[in-house]
Amino acid sequence: MDNVGHKKTLRTSLLVGLLALLCFSASQALGKEVAIGVFAYQGERASTSDWNPLISYLNRALPEHHFRLENHDAESLRQAIAGERIDLAITNPVHYITMEAEFGLSRIATLESVGVSAARALGSVVLARSDRTDLKELTDLTGKRVAAIAPDAFGGYLLAAQAMLHSGVDPETDLKEILFIGLPMSRVVEAVLQGKVDAGIVRACVPEQMVREAQLQPADFRVLSQRQEKQFPCALSTPLFPDWPLSVTRQTDPVLAKRVAHALLSMTQAADGMGWTVPADYQPVHDLYRELRVGPYAYLREITPEGLARRFWPWLLGTLVALVAWITHTIRVEQLVHRRTAQLRESLQAREQAESRMRESQEQMEHLSRLSVLGELSGNLAHELNQPLTTIGTYARTVLRRQDSGRLTPEAINEACTQIVSEAERAGGIVQRIRHFAKKRGAVRAPVDLALIAKEARHLFIGMLAHPPTIHIDNRLPEHCRVLADGPQIQQVLLNLIKNALDAGRNLAPERHRVQVIIEAVDNWVHLHVIDQGCGLEPTQLARLFEPFFTTKPDGLGLGLPICKTIIEAHGGRLWAEPNADGPGMRFSFSLRCHDLPT
Ligand code: ADP
Repeated sequence: MDNVGHKKTLRTSLLVGLLALLCFSASQALGKEVAIGVFAYQGERASTSDWNPLISYLNRALPEHHFRLENHDAESLRQAIAGERIDLAITNPVHYITMEAEFGLSRIATLESVGVSAARALGSVVLARSDRTDLKELTDLTGKRVAAIAPDAFGGYLLAAQAMLHSGVDPETDLKEILFIGLPMSRVVEAVLQGKVDAGIVRACVPEQMVREAQLQPADFRVLSQRQEKQFPCALSTPLFPDWPLSVTRQTDPVLAKRVAHALLSMTQAADGMGWTVPADYQPVHDLYRELRVGPYAYLREITPEGLARRFWPWLLGTLVALVAWITHTIRVEQLVHRRTAQLRESLQAREQAESRMRESQEQMEHLSRLSVLGELSGNLAHELNQPLTTIGTYARTVLRRQDSGRLTPEAINEACTQIVSEAERAGGIVQRIRHFAKKRGAVRAPVDLALIAKEARHLFIGMLAHPPTIHIDNRLPEHCRVLADGPQIQQVLLNLIKNALDAGRNLAPERHRVQVIIEAVDNWVHLHVIDQGCGLEPTQLARLFEPFFTTKPDGLGLGLPICKTIIEAHGGRLWAEPNADGPGMRFSFSLRCHDLPT
C-alpha cells in the first residue's frame, strides 16, 4: 500500500513538472512580456479605457510579444523608468522631456488625432464667465484670482502660464491668487461658472467636450485672448504644442523598439480617431520649460552657486576669459614697464657718467687754460715779484751800512722795517692771487657781480704786465640785475677775451692798445662786450674762430675761445664775435640771463 502510494505521488510530481515545463515553453513561444507604462493623469479607469485599444492592437500586430498596460501617476512612472521595470512609456510632452533629460527616454512615435497635426495638437484655453466683460485678454488677469489644474499640468497650467508671460503678466507675481484645484478638469470650469475664481485654465477642447456632454452651455463662458489655429477644432488662448509621445527606455531591446515603431506607424486610425505618426519636435516644450524655469530647468530658480553657474555659465566663461586676458595684459604691461624702467635707469646712469666725465674734462681744460694764461704772464710775474724783493734788499743793506758807520738811529730802523714789511706783504699778495687763480675747483652757481669780476681781471693784468694796457670798464647794468653763475669761470672767460684783445694790439701803435669792457642789459639778458682796436680778423678766420685748435699765434693753443664758448653755453648763454663797429679791431660778446635779485 505504501509502495503503491509512493508510486502515485511520484507520478503526480512528474505530471506537475511536465505541466510547468509545458507552460514555460508556451510562454517562451508567446514571447517576452512587454510592459507599457502610462501616465494615467485622469485616473486608472479612464486611462485603461483610453489605452486598451492600443494594447490589443500591439498584441495582434506583434504576437511574439505580450504587451501589458501599467497605469502610473507621474512619480511612480518615473520610478518605474528608473527601476527599469517598463519597456515602453506613454506620457505627456512635459513629463516626457523631464524623463528624457533624466533617464534618456527616447520617443519613437507621436500620437495623432484625426485632422490634427501631431506637432500642433495640445493647447490651453483660459475661460471666464460670459458676464465678465472686464476680462477679454490675458493682460486683464492682473490682480485676478485664477484656477488651474496643477503647477506641473501641461495643458492645465503651464501652456497658459507661458502665454501670460508673453503678454506681460507674470502668473507667479501679477495674479491676486492662483488656485490649483486638480482633476477632473471640469472642476476648474465649475469654479469659474460659480464665481469662485475670475478665470480658469483648462486643456483645449475640454469646454467643447463639456458642451457635447451637456455639462456646459456655449453662452456661459468666454475665451480670453482667443486665437484660431488652422485644422484645430477647439477654442484656444495659447499656441499649440506636440501631442503625447510613445518612447523607449535606454534598456529597451532595439529590435522590439523597431517592431513597435513599425507597428504604430502602420496602424490605421482607431474608431476614436487615435493614431500614431513619426516623432514630433519637442523643442518648443524645452523652450517653455526653460522660460518658466520648471522641470529640468528648475535649477534656473536656484540661487545656489551651482544653479547660478549653470544659468550664467556663458557670462561666467566670458568674464573668466576677460579676466585672464586682463591679467595677462597687466603682467605684460608690468614686465614692459619694468624692462623700460631698467633701460631708462641704465641710460640715465650712462648719461650721468658721461656728463660727469665731461664736467671733469671741462674742469681739467679750464685749469689748463688758466695755467696757460699764467705761463704767458710768468715773465712779467718775475719782474713783478722782483720789485718788492729789490726794495726789501735795499732797505736791509741800508740798515747794515748805517750800523757799520755808526749812523743807525732807531727812526732809520723803524722806517726800514716798515718798508720791508709792506713790500713783503705786497709780494705775498701777488703770490696769493696767483695761487687763488691757479687753484683747481668744481663748478658752482651763485649771484655774481660782473663789474667786480671785470675789475679783478683788470687788476690782475695791470699788476702783472710790465707795460700795463688801458682797460676801461663801462658798467651800464641796472642795480637789481644780477647774474647767477660760477664767478671764477666767468672770470676765466673774461681773462681770455682780454688777453686775446691785448694780443691783437701787441705789434701796433700804443694808442691801439686800448681795451673797452661794456656791461649792459638787453631785455632779460646781460651782455658783456670786450672791444679792442687790434689787428681784427679776415672773414675766413672769423668763420673758424670757435673751432678747437684754431690759432694764428706761433705759440697759441687755439683752445681759449672753444673753452669760453663751452663755459658760457653751460650757463645758458651765448658767445659771439664781430668786427668792431666803431673802428678797427673786434668786438667779442657774451650773454647771460639776468635775474631780479635783491642787492
Ligand atoms: P689762442 O689764443 O691760443 O690762439 P684762442 O682760442 O683764444 O686761442 O684764439 C684763437 C684765435 O682767434 C687766435 O689765435 C686769434 O687768431 C683769434 N683771435 C682771438 N681773439 C682775437 C681778437 N680780439 N682779435 C683778433 N683775433 C683774435
